[in-house]
Amino acid sequence: MTVIGLIGGLSWESSLIYYRLLNEGVRTRHGGQHSADILMRSLDFESIVALQKADRWDEAGAVLAKEAAGLEAGGAGCVLICSNTMHLVAPAVSGAVAVPLIDIIAATGAAVRAAGFERPLLLSTRYTAEHGFYAERMRATTGIEVLTPATSAARGRVHDIIFSELCLGIVSDTSREEMRRIVAEGVAAGADCVILGCTELCLLIDEQSLGCPVFDSTAIHVEAALAFAEGDQAASIASAA
Ligand code: GLU
Repeated sequence: MTVIGLIGGLSWESSLIYYRLLNEGVRTRHGGQHSADILMRSLDFESIVALQKADRWDEAGAVLAKEAAGLEAGGAGCVLICSNTMHLVAPAVSGAVAVPLIDIIAATGAAVRAAGFERPLLLSTRYTAEHGFYAERMRATTGIEVLTPATSAARGRVHDIIFSELCLGIVSDTSREEMRRIVAEGVAAGADCVILGCTELCLLIDEQSLGCPVFDSTAIHVEAALAFAEGDQAASIASAA
């Protein structure tokens, strides 16, 4: 099996989910004591958050590119950035390695498309919602136009819940209720489904709690990685370049 390279710690709360889902996916497929062949770098998230806040994306890209090269040198046959936000620097990362970068945006878009939905509401950090890279990549790979929460206040609230709660392992009923309200507004504005476009959001909300179709980028990213590792190159949505 291909060694799956993870750039994690973005935050480590979601890296835990990647680790569990990858291993569960291999156990489901192969049974017995089979588990995923994983090489993970878990970064100190504070240093990445500082670069995000300072808008120093080129430096963040250089950090992640170096880590990707290290994973490749260590034997990884593909690389995953375990964060939607940090796909902002995906071109720098994919350009640093010969092995494929499994693209979370393309994989999520393919899942939305395959299920027949067309107007997803994107719940994410402000960077992902407002920087443009996510919407552009989604459009380029699937033709899908994502909606984001309509007001800056709502986008800010989702952002704050991600960084001040979920990345710290805090899961709150009040925040879940706020998410339900933001999603209801999105559905009223024409959204036909929701993308959990942050790898920690699955800690807080799911299809049941939101009451509408949900595409969880973490689980979809994991499935794409497993498809690649098992040799199904077409299903894996391999490259962000
Ligand atoms: N894990 C998050 C994401 O998927 C947010 C943390 C980060 O900024 O990397 O966007």
